[in-house]
Amino acid sequence: MKQSAFLFAIVLASCSQGPVHYTDFAIGTTVNLTLYDQDRPDLWKEILVDLKWLDDTMTIWEREEPSTLMRANSAAGDPLGYPIGPELAEVIRLGLEISRESQGALDISVGPLVKAWGVATENPRVPNKEEVSRALALVGWDRVRLESGRLYLDRPGMMLDLGAVAKGWMADRIVEKLRARGVERAIVDLGGNIALLGSKPDGSPWKVGIQDPFQTRGRYLGILETGPTSLVTSGIYERFFEQDGIRYHHILDPKGGFPVINELAGVTIVHPNSGLADALSTAVFVLGGKAGWELAQRYRAEIILINRDHTVWVSPALRDGFQLVAGEYSLQENLP
Ligand code: AMP
Ligand code: MG
Repeated sequence: MKQSAFLFAIVLASCSQGPVHYTDFAIGTTVNLTLYDQDRPDLWKEILVDLKWLDDTMTIWEREEPSTLMRANSAAGDPLGYPIGPELAEVIRLGLEISRESQGALDISVGPLVKAWGVATENPRVPNKEEVSRALALVGWDRVRLESGRLYLDRPGMMLDLGAVAKGWMADRIVEKLRARGVERAIVDLGGNIALLGSKPDGSPWKVGIQDPFQTRGRYLGILETGPTSLVTSGIYERFFEQDGIRYHHILDPKGGFPVINELAGVTIVHPNSGLADALSTAVFVLGGKAGWELAQRYRAEIILINRDHTVWVSPALRDGFQLVAGEYSLQENLP
């Protein structure tokens, strides 16, 4: 009798504990996991190992040991190509599909340009005209081929950069893992790339903050109520530097070679497939609102467009669940 009362007390205590949060720095950003139904430090450890694997496989940022992708990039121009594993191939395939469908607004072969601008290095800088045109000559998703587990890059100096796709793809893998291990409710947050699993314990919708692109990460302009899905944002806030009083951000126009300047300050894509949402977020940001929404619709993705003039356009299916919380913003009825 005494023992069962004791057990009962433990169950009560664990129910009233509320969600468990884990946080760390990985893949160049802050990553968070929130679990609602159990405390699983073992799973969090596994996820950190997976994130380290992601870096070892897909980063092109300077590091002591080159990643698999960096080795494959070094083999650019080699007619024999370079052998890659199925996961890397899957991310490249997704990236190539959206590169094609966006007509090169997303272009995963943008690596030479990213290097010329020093994105994500200690010393980002504005490259000169020659450097830009040299880099541009090496960009072209249609000169990338994947065949029988080998990657072929047409010309020496070509370089894939999966920075626009890999985080989302990984968020999907983490959600799959959590589900397979019996987790029913969770929030996976890879540096603002959010994937939701299940529903909240009381059955109410998730409330997700939508990043204010004029503020640092974690400052919201609105709240979206949603079921289990994924939300991925691209914008001018993420990585930027200033030179001669001009601010340059990290999303590059693969045709002009400069950071994209259009009416947009940020884009949030909502789609259950986080890898797809990630690829689309970058593509839509480059395309601009109108062409971006057309692309999103082809993939049944919902979107929130945040314009530089502080107007916000929310795609119809999201409107009921969206609420502005920052006074300087207003909702826009129609796409311009
Ligand atoms: P995201 O934050 O998902 O929009 O991805 C931005 C990252 O993707 C940048 O930091 C670059 O590494 C890379 N990138 C920048 N511009 C492009 C582009 N037009 N197409 C593909 N990748 C890009
Ligand atoms: Mg992206």
